[in-house]
Amino acid sequence: MPNKNDRWPESAPGKWYVDQSCDACFLCVDEAPRNVRESAEGEY
Ligand code: SF4
Repeated sequence: MPNKNDRWPESAPGKWYVDQSCDACFLCVDEAPRNVRESAEGEY
């Protein structure tokens, strides 16, 4: 379960975020490309 204390600092302000449990499956990027993008290094 996502933990707001582990959110990546690049996450946009607000209640939606990516935390450090992300395993880079990129399902969210495929499903919501206008809201989510891959990190610069591609690790989350
Ligand atoms: S890439 Fe996958 S694991 Fe990471 S936040 Fe998106 S859906 Fe979740």
